[in-house]
Amino acid sequence: MKSLKYLNKYFLKYKWHLIAGIVFTVVSNFFAVKMPVLVKDTINHYVETLGNLTFENAIWLAIKTGGIYLALTIAKGIFLFLVRQSIIMMSRQIEYDLKNEIFNQYLKLDFSFYKRNNTGDLMNRISEDVSLVRMYLGPGVMYTINLVVLFVLVIVQMIAINGTLTLFVLIPLPLMSFLIYKVSSSMSRLSSEVQKEQSTLSTLAQETFSGIRIIKAYQREEQIHDKFNSSADNYKNKSMRLIMVNSLFMPTISFLIGLSTVILIYLGGIMTINETITVGDIVAFVFFVNMLTWPFASVGWVTSIIQRAAASQTRINQFLEATPEIKNNNFDDFTFKGKIEFKNVSYTYPNTGIQAIENLSFVVEKGKTFAIIGRTGSGKSTILHLLTRNIQPDSGQILIDGIDISMINLDQFRAQIGIVPQEVFLFSDTISYNISFGLENRNVSIEELREVAKRAHVLHNIEDFPAQFDTLLGERGVNLSGGQKQRISIARALIRKPKLLLLDDCLSAVDTETEEIILRNLVDESIERTTLIVSHRISSLRNADKMILIDKGQKVEEGSHDELIALNGQYAEIYEKQLIDEAEESEESEEAAAE
Ligand code: ADP
Ligand code: MG
Repeated sequence: MKSLKYLNKYFLKYKWHLIAGIVFTVVSNFFAVKMPVLVKDTINHYVETLGNLTFENAIWLAIKTGGIYLALTIAKGIFLFLVRQSIIMMSRQIEYDLKNEIFNQYLKLDFSFYKRNNTGDLMNRISEDVSLVRMYLGPGVMYTINLVVLFVLVIVQMIAINGTLTLFVLIPLPLMSFLIYKVSSSMSRLSSEVQKEQSTLSTLAQETFSGIRIIKAYQREEQIHDKFNSSADNYKNKSMRLIMVNSLFMPTISFLIGLSTVILIYLGGIMTINETITVGDIVAFVFFVNMLTWPFASVGWVTSIIQRAAASQTRINQFLEATPEIKNNNFDDFTFKGKIEFKNVSYTYPNTGIQAIENLSFVVEKGKTFAIIGRTGSGKSTILHLLTRNIQPDSGQILIDGIDISMINLDQFRAQIGIVPQEVFLFSDTISYNISFGLENRNVSIEELREVAKRAHVLHNIEDFPAQFDTLLGERGVNLSGGQKQRISIARALIRKPKLLLLDDCLSAVDTETEEIILRNLVDESIERTTLIVSHRISSLRNADKMILIDKGQKVEEGSHDELIALNGQYAEIYEKQLIDEAEESEESEEAAAE
């Protein structure tokens, strides 16, 4: 329950909603409690005056009582409406604030957090868990206040009529609370199981839709159908159990109310015979017992709501309390001049224990093009993650213009980087949205878009689409080829006019000719730019000023293309092999052309 304390700051923020809610509850219940009293007084009056009441007087009394009863009902209803307006409204406000708070926190947390938690969990915190917490903030709070207020008002009235009878008819009510608590608990346990089955089912369905081509190609329809069927079976069975427990709910309540009423009529009857109470008193008691039923029933229900909310809030707090390991430590202006240095840097991925970088040192001079070559898995991408400070070295140092990377203004440093990641990510939006994504000011002119698209050698593709730059990408838009995606991603980096350009194997899906065109276009005379190119293909980085060859996170060779060829080591070997491959490829295509 401690976790729910976190929400107190929100109760404080919306204290006026809460206070108004309490006041309205008191007023509404005040009117409610007056209703049985009115009925009691009227009945007693009839009984006393029985025989000497004229027909006209009797009618008049009935109309008067009916009128007052109606007025009380309306007054009660109006205030009940206001109770909901203040408390349920408050819960929606807090829900909104909490969602924003969690989402903001998500944006602050770094790479390593996202490695530890899966998307499903992240989504659940912000949707499912917040909804459960809201049940506590809204209905939970509302019913609790109502129970306390109503209980006090009703008990006061009942004791005023008859103390002993009050005691007897109240006996079954705590029992009812307990039973309902038990029923609600198993209901919530079952419903969360049902929910889990539901999400398994929808994940399966979703995966099927996105993988439909491969499923059909490999003729796995039947197998997938069986899988879906057994999952749907689980869902059905759990739902049925839930319905069974659900069906117990109302009979339990009815039985216990009935029990109270039986006790009341039996004892009340004896008391009336003994003339300790009147007929009107018994009728008022029946009303009161009925009035207390729902609030007492809600005790059990509210308890289970609070338990679930506490569990959810505990999970939410875990995320809210997580601190990003990587933060900006310096808010002074920073203008990147262009020099980068790695000094004995080592890095091991904590989740897998794989040492990706080992004691790596190199220097990239201002304005130069530096290339990193190595097999897949040799650590090239990791170097770029370190350089953008998505992760931090375990040992060694990364210097930016001679200053440790953790000491510079990270936000401003990142603002001067253009990165083309190895795995292209495009949003399901227009091409122009995707290209201008990294700009502070999205209002780019079409000329600017055309210019970068041209440099990235994708303009001619875009022009083929009828909607041009307004073409929608993604699920409901056009599907681009791998190479087209890579080139859009390059355009996105270029439009920022970055001082540091990082290209992570981003030409792997384009042919060597296109690659050369793009590489030539990358040169931008208007800015002095440092460029890091990562590739496993020598043709992409032959013209770099300097390059390193890495293997298993370690530097193996270093120098310019010519120097490395002269060295006649691993680089030269790879080069020769790739030359032969290329020659074969072009021979093949020539043959194909000749045929
Ligand atoms: P490259 O870009 O040269 O293909 P990477 O830098 O991506 O290589 O990977 C280097 C090594 O680190 C590989 O063995 C890879 O399996 C591992 N690795 C990469 N990313 C992660 C990660 N997020 N978590 C754990 N291990 C990783
Ligand atoms: Mg890589």
